[in-house]
Formats: sequence, structure tokens, C-alpha cells
Amino acid sequence: MGEIRIDLHTHSSASDGTDAPELMAQLARDAGLAALGLADHDTVAGWEAASVGAKAAGVTLVRGIEMTAHMLVDPAEHPDAERRVSVHMLGYLFDPSEPQMAAHMAAMCTAREDRAREIVDRLAVDFPISWELVQEYREPGAPVGRPHIADALVALGVGENRSAIFAKVLASTSQYYVPNKSALATDAVQWIRAAGGKAVLAHPKANARGNYLPDSAIRDLAEAGLFGLEVEHRDNTLSERPALAALAKELRLARFGASDYHGTGKPNRMGENLTSPEVLDLLAAGAFLPLI
Ligand code: AMP
Ligand code: ZN
Ligand code: FE
Ligand code: FE
Repeated sequence: MGEIRIDLHTHSSASDGTDAPELMAQLARDAGLAALGLADHDTVAGWEAASVGAKAAGVTLVRGIEMTAHMLVDPAEHPDAERRVSVHMLGYLFDPSEPQMAAHMAAMCTAREDRAREIVDRLAVDFPISWELVQEYREPGAPVGRPHIADALVALGVGENRSAIFAKVLASTSQYYVPNKSALATDAVQWIRAAGGKAVLAHPKANARGNYLPDSAIRDLAEAGLFGLEVEHRDNTLSERPALAALAKELRLARFGASDYHGTGKPNRMGENLTSPEVLDLLAAGAFLPLI
């Protein structure tokens, strides 16, 4: 029996990935996956097309989202961190029409729009970029993010690819950077649960410059009803993973692994990290939406 390969965190062009949602399952099958999770940023707009593609490809689809959120940390507890630490909260198998979740998605789309315009205004002082140009690099209605702005800058020759642009002008330390307005991560966990879904903390060690979540914040999230922790993710270094796995075990959080695939927008390859079939069974148990 071969290994059952499951990758629950990927992005399509419904947010800032480069592959259409209807193509995602075919790509998953090509990568030898039995199940795929679609977790676009702050939107479920790709779910329907992805489910059509999943049926055609014979791949199990796990409908999800990656919510933009943050936590406030006590600097005394974590001297390297800024007070506000950005957090990405994955939500799976929830009811998208539940009022708080629906309100969050709508509010984040508007907030992202205002924030991206502000970033573009700042960039326009030094580069020939315009808001109109950025629109060419996102699907209509997709929540706008830095990757779409990066694509416009690549087209202008400012850098070779998204990663080069992020390193150069879109890093959170850049003069052009504006943070996203976002929800408290503990609220996000509660909204996902209230909508019948399961919340999983994405890439807990991903933030640059040591500005990542202290364990105390992960404990607070567990208290709020977090279901799982993404341990195997390329933004958690190999040396950080044993402690994360131990924390997950202590807090009785399910252990996830995923690629965070973004198509050609990032080097992450589908299936480069995996979640076990046992954890997928637990994720689906009692959730509002079924696996399809
Ligand atoms: P935003 O949500 O607008 O702040 O943009 C964050 C998104 O940019 C995340 O989805 C990341 O996957 C993506 N991102 C962050 N750093 C890079 C990078 N170096 N290259 C490509 N994409 C990146
Ligand atoms: Zn992204
Ligand atoms: Fe993320
Ligand atoms: Fe992601």
C-alpha cells in the first residue's frame, strides 16, 4: 500500500495563487495527492469551481480559508517581537454563510483594497506603477494582496519574480509597506468554530525578524478552541519543529503539514509537506461541511 498523500493548505487565483481553482485538483492528482485543501486568503470564492475540478480529477477536496489575523503579545514575555504579531488562521469545513464569518470575509476584502491602494500610492512615488496596472494581475473580486502588486512590479522590470520584489520593496520592513487591518486571532478561532468549522494555526514560526508568536500566544489560541497546528511547513525551520510538535502534543492540538502552494508565485511545491489520514479524519469529524 502506498502512502496516502494529503496537502491541506494551497492557494488558487481566487486569492493570490496563479492557478485557477478548477485546475487545482488536477495539479494535486499530478502531485500524487489523494486529498487537497483549498485555503485562499479571506475568501471562499474558489470553492465551487474547485469542487467541480475535484470531482473530475477524483481528488478529495477540503474546503478551507486562510484568515488574516493578529495577536497582541506582551513585550516582556517576548522581547524580540513587536506588540502586534501577524497570524494566519486556517479554517476548514465551516458554514460560509454564518454571519460573523461572512462579515469577516467582506470586511477583509474592503480592508485589503484600501491597504493595497495605500501601498501602491507609496510605490508610485518611485516607480511607474498604478492601481489600474495592479488590476491586471488579479482575478476580478479576488482579495488583493502584495503578490498582485509584486506581479505588476515584475512586469515593470523592478525584479525578476515575486520573491525578488518581496525582498526588495514589499517586505514588512520596507518604507512602502502598510500592514493589513485584521481580526484578533482568538476571535477568528471562535468565528470558525461558531460556523461549525475547525481552526488550524498556519506556519507559527513564519514571521521575519523573530517577530513570531510566543508559546504563550499559542496556548491562548488553544484555550480559544484551536484544533491544530501546522508543524511541517517550510517557514518553520527543521530545528523549530520538534518543539512545535511537543507543544501540539501537550495542548492536544492535531499536527498538520502542508505546502502553502501558490502556483508559480512561490517555490513551494504541492505535496512537499503532508498531513496524515488520521488527522484528516479527525478534522472532518463533526464539521459543518463534508469532504467532497
Ligand atoms: P499580504 O496578505 O498582502 O500581506 O501578502 C502576503 C502574501 O504574500 C502571502 O500569501 C505570502 O504567501 C506571499 N508572500 C510572502 N512573501 C513572499 C515571497 N517572498 N515571495 C512570494 N510570495 C510571498
Ligand atoms: Zn498567499
Ligand atoms: Fe500564510
Ligand atoms: Fe497560505
